[in-house]
Amino acid sequence: MTDSSDSSFAQRTTQNSADTEGATDAAETSGTDSSALTDQERALVSAVEAALPSSIAELSDLVRIPSVSWAAFDPANVAASAEAVAGLARATGVFESVDILRAATPSGELGQPAVLATRAARNGRPTVLLYAHHDVQPPGDDAAWESLPFEPTVRGDRLYGRGAADDKAGVESHLAAIRALTATAGDDFDLGLVLFIEGEEEFGSRSFANFLEANRDRLAADVIVVADSDNWDTETPSLTISLRGNVTFKLTVSTLAHASHSGMFGGAVPDAMLAAFRLLASFHDENGSVAVVGLTGREIEAPEYTEETLRAEAGLLDGVKPIGEGSILSRLWSKPTVTVTGIDAPSVANASNTLIPSVAVRVSARIAPGQDSQQAFEALEAHVRAHTPFGAHVEITEVDTGSPFLVDTSGWAVTAAKDAMRDAWGAEPVEAGIGGSIPFIADLVRVFPEAQILVTGVEDPHTRAHSPNESLHLGVFKRAITAEALLLLRLNSRTGNS
Ligand SMILES: [Zn+2]
Repeated sequence: MTDSSDSSFAQRTTQNSADTEGATDAAETSGTDSSALTDQERALVSAVEAALPSSIAELSDLVRIPSVSWAAFDPANVAASAEAVAGLARATGVFESVDILRAATPSGELGQPAVLATRAARNGRPTVLLYAHHDVQPPGDDAAWESLPFEPTVRGDRLYGRGAADDKAGVESHLAAIRALTATAGDDFDLGLVLFIEGEEEFGSRSFANFLEANRDRLAADVIVVADSDNWDTETPSLTISLRGNVTFKLTVSTLAHASHSGMFGGAVPDAMLAAFRLLASFHDENGSVAVVGLTGREIEAPEYTEETLRAEAGLLDGVKPIGEGSILSRLWSKPTVTVTGIDAPSVANASNTLIPSVAVRVSARIAPGQDSQQAFEALEAHVRAHTPFGAHVEITEVDTGSPFLVDTSGWAVTAAKDAMRDAWGAEPVEAGIGGSIPFIADLVRVFPEAQILVTGVEDPHTRAHSPNESLHLGVFKRAITAEALLLLRLNSRTGNS
C-alpha cells in the first residue's frame, strides 16, 4: 500500500490508460451488500477497495517470477517466488514466525519450498489456516499467448499471465485479506492465523504428506481455507463442496518384436496402433458414457447448467455433441471420466510404411466422490486386461492416484463462509462440485480430522487455468478478498468452537 507500489502498478500492468480504466471499472462493480454490514465491516470493505491497486501490483510482481515446479524447470525460480511470498508475509507484521521450509518426497528427494507463517490465537479465538500455492504450470508455447505468460497484462477487466489466477491470486487474496483485517481491527487481534503457501501443487504435491507430518503442530487449525478453486461465474461465488479424485497411468500396448513392412505383413499382422485404439475405444459406450465396470457415479441435485453454457465455457465446436448421460453437472461433478491425454507413437512427419510395434498412451481418469481411488484403479486395470484385442501385450506403469472429496457442510465454518460470500458479492453462493481434483485435501482431512475445510477460490469459468491466456477477473479478485476479509474479521470475535 505504499506510493512506490502504486506507481509500479501503473507502470507495469498498464498497456494503455483505456485498459486500466476498464479494469478498475470492472473491479468496482462489486455487489457488496453494505446494508447487512456493521460499521467496522463497512470500514473493512473500504480498506480492501483502497488497497486493490497495490494488491494487483503485488500479484503482478509474483506473476513475473516463472515459478514452474516441474522437474525439468529451474528450481531457482520456485525458490525466488517462495522468498517473495515470505517477504510479503513478513511485511504484514502479524506473524510470530515466517519460514521457508521443505520436506522430503516419498522417494527421498527434497520437495519444493513452501512458506509457513504462524500467529497463535488468543482469548479462546479460533485459528484459521490459509492455504494457496505459489508454483505454476509450465506456460506452454509462448505463441499461443496473446501477451507473454510471465508479463502480467491487463486487458479489459482481466489480468493475464501464468499464475495470475492459479494460484498466485489465491496467495495474494490471503495477504490482502489479512491486511484489510489489520487496517480495521489493528494488529493486536485475537484470531490465530497460519499461512501455508505450497510450492509444488502443480507437480503433484509430492512432499505434502511429509510436510504435514513434520509441521503438524504449527499447521493445526480449526478452519482451513483452501483458496485454489472456482466460482460459479464472475458475479456469483461458489463454495466447492465436492471434488473428483483421479487415477493416471501409462499404458503401453505392443504387438510386434520389431516394426514390419506394412505392405508385406499388413492384413494378417495387427499393429500396436490398431490394438491400442480398439482398447481405448472400449472405455466408452456409443453415447460417450464411461463403460468401465466398477467405476461408480451418481446423479446429483445441482444448479441449472445448460448445454449452451457448457458449449460456451468449454469451447465446443459447432455441431460437436456433448457426451455422457444425465444432467450436465452430474457428468462433470459426480460421474467418472476416462481421457487419453498423451500418446507416444511415430510422428506424422516421420511416418514410414511400417506396422507400429508398440504404442504408449497416458490415461487420465477422474473418479466420482464416494469411490476409493485404489479401487477405481483396479477397475480400470481389470477393464484393460479384459478388453485388449488380438492378444496384444499391455503394460501399466507410472500409476498415480488421488482421492475424491466431499465437504461436510454441517459445520459452523461453512455457514460463516457462505454468509461472508453473500455479503461480499451481493449474491447467493452456490455449493458447487468441481470436476477437477485437489488430491492433497484428502491428506489434510487425514492429518487434521477435526478441522473444517472451506474450498474457495478466485477463478471463474473463463480463467483457463493451466492453458495459454490464463487470466484473473479483477472484480472476482476484489470480491474474493472482501469475502475472506469479512470471514476473518467475524471469526476474530467468535468464541467457542461449536
Ligand atoms: Zn491451483
